[in-house]
Amino acid sequence: MIEKKAENKVCCKVCFRHCSLADGETGACRTRKNKAGEVVSINYGVLTSLALDPIEKKPLSMFCPGSMILSAGSFGCNLRCPFCQNHEISYAGEREAGSLGVRYISPEELVDTALRLKERGNIGIAFTYNEPLMSWEYVRDAASLSHEKGMKNVLVSNGTAEPEVLREILPFIDAMNIDLKAFDKDKYSKILGGDLEQTQAFISEAAKHVHMEITTLVVPGFNDDNSEIENASKWIASLNNGKNIPYHLTRFFPGFNMTDRDATPVNRIFELRDIAAKYLDNVYVGNV
Ligand code: SF4
Repeated sequence: MIEKKAENKVCCKVCFRHCSLADGETGACRTRKNKAGEVVSINYGVLTSLALDPIEKKPLSMFCPGSMILSAGSFGCNLRCPFCQNHEISYAGEREAGSLGVRYISPEELVDTALRLKERGNIGIAFTYNEPLMSWEYVRDAASLSHEKGMKNVLVSNGTAEPEVLREILPFIDAMNIDLKAFDKDKYSKILGGDLEQTQAFISEAAKHVHMEITTLVVPGFNDDNSEIENASKWIASLNNGKNIPYHLTRFFPGFNMTDRDATPVNRIFELRDIAAKYLDNVYVGNV
């Protein structure tokens, strides 16, 4: 997933950004670096967060309900959402991560921890909190080992990675929750620094292979038009087994770089839930 460029630059092909990196340079996600001509993950196994969470917190509502899952996160992200709820870790790079109390946990150690927690209802590992696919090699290595031990694996992601990355991890992932942060190409790129097309392609392909759930954080004045949620719902319904895909609409609360508006009114979330429910059988509301 790398390509040599002129002037000793190397192009990273993990996500849509295709950062062209000089020797020693780190990409926009702050997690991949050109080290002597190879783009490598600098946060492989470097965890900032590790917790045993109810699976509904991911959120996953229709995958092993009532179970617990060991949830692991690192630092860095390739998007720039102004409403990020995990900005302390997702906006951090190698330097800032030092003050976050990071710890290196090998895939073997992570799986051993997951196995020990089985007695507390743990079913496996969730790769979550920051954007896990920037260090997809760690997801692959830990998840394949976890499968060998009979455990399940969950990915919580923004879904902006190239198809080659998805192919690498798919054999080891059982369920995903992917953010669909808006349903407008321009907003996705200009306000979030993301790529709607790549997100849609990722969700569409992954939904053919794993249990898929989708989440939209409903932000007033950003993505809360009836038509936007309606179009997103219609599109989800068109996917493989789409009508059955659980769709989570969650309330926004002001914070981080978006403090210029109030929290999403509770009644508005329920109005949008009713619109989505015209097309989808399983629509959930969150943070209400
Ligand atoms: S994964 Fe990181 S370094 Fe690679 S293209 Fe995306 S933002 Fe750039």
